Amino acid sequence: MLEETLAALDAEDLRVLSIIESLRDRFEYVPLELIESRSRLPPARLSTVLGKLRSMRLVDFRVGSFTGYTITFKGLDVLALHSLKSRGVVKRLGDRIGAGKEGDVYLAEGPEGLIVVKFHRGGVRSFRKVKRFRGYVEDLPTDWIEYAKLIGEREYKVMVKLHEAKAMVPKPLGWNRHAVAQEYIEGVELYKVKSLDPQEALAVLNSILETLRIAYTKVGVVHGDLSEYNVLVSNSLEAYIIDWPQYVYVEDPRAELLLKRDLEYILRFFKRRFGLTRDLEWALKFVRGELIESS
Ligand code: ADP
Ligand code: MN
Repeated sequence: MLEETLAALDAEDLRVLSIIESLRDRFEYVPLELIESRSRLPPARLSTVLGKLRSMRLVDFRVGSFTGYTITFKGLDVLALHSLKSRGVVKRLGDRIGAGKEGDVYLAEGPEGLIVVKFHRGGVRSFRKVKRFRGYVEDLPTDWIEYAKLIGEREYKVMVKLHEAKAMVPKPLGWNRHAVAQEYIEGVELYKVKSLDPQEALAVLNSILETLRIAYTKVGVVHGDLSEYNVLVSNSLEAYIIDWPQYVYVEDPRAELLLKRDLEYILRFFKRRFGLTRDLEWALKFVRGELIESS
């Protein structure tokens, strides 16, 4: 779908779309005259291009004291995809997988096989993570597009650090605007794993705790939204922690509370689902690097 949308655009369409995007820091709706002067297109030609962008819902427009245009999330998706493709990160975008709460996650073909691309949506669909990240509801961003770009950058950059520190996270492959390309993990979300024998359950939990320990002690961050929905278990029972944009630094006053809650959620899940009991205080010490051994 996005791939087809991009294919239907020529260089001029993309240029006009980029101009509208680039002026959004100055105008909620970019005046037509400004798009005209920036694009240097004859008015009739520009009007065809804008009509096309509008009918494809890549821009919205407003007629009032002046006619103005603004980019939509779909328009932003197309520009991000275009950039990732021209850099060779993505060869072809495929189907949407995972009904994410805050993002649209697509399968894609990368230069070396399957990858995924997550398009952040800011808080358009869910205020939960936004509230957590910002701390206070009053601070909610008014500009979801800027916010989505910010959390795309946050997620990509922290994943690079986590991956370098050898934490079990999907390998980050590239980022543009609100889109993060990463390794595709073939497996299922932890909440879908129904049966594990005791050793397997322990191994999966230990691997999650090990990733949290690396995140805490080597990268200096706490995930902050950990649950059985943000862990992917591969076919060979390796546990990957995903969905990092709301992380907080360990120095943050909220870090200890969030770490405790992350651990409570995950330990409670393992107890309920697999009958595996692990002590919270022990796990806290382990993740903070205050213990040497993992048992
Ligand atoms: P959200 O903020 O929408 O919860 P997530 O990062 O948790 O976003 O991704 C949503 C869903 O997309 C996941 O539950 C998972 O099914 C799928 N997904 C995300 N990243 C990957 C990945 N690297 N490999 C495979 N599936 C993934
Ligand atoms: Mn998630």
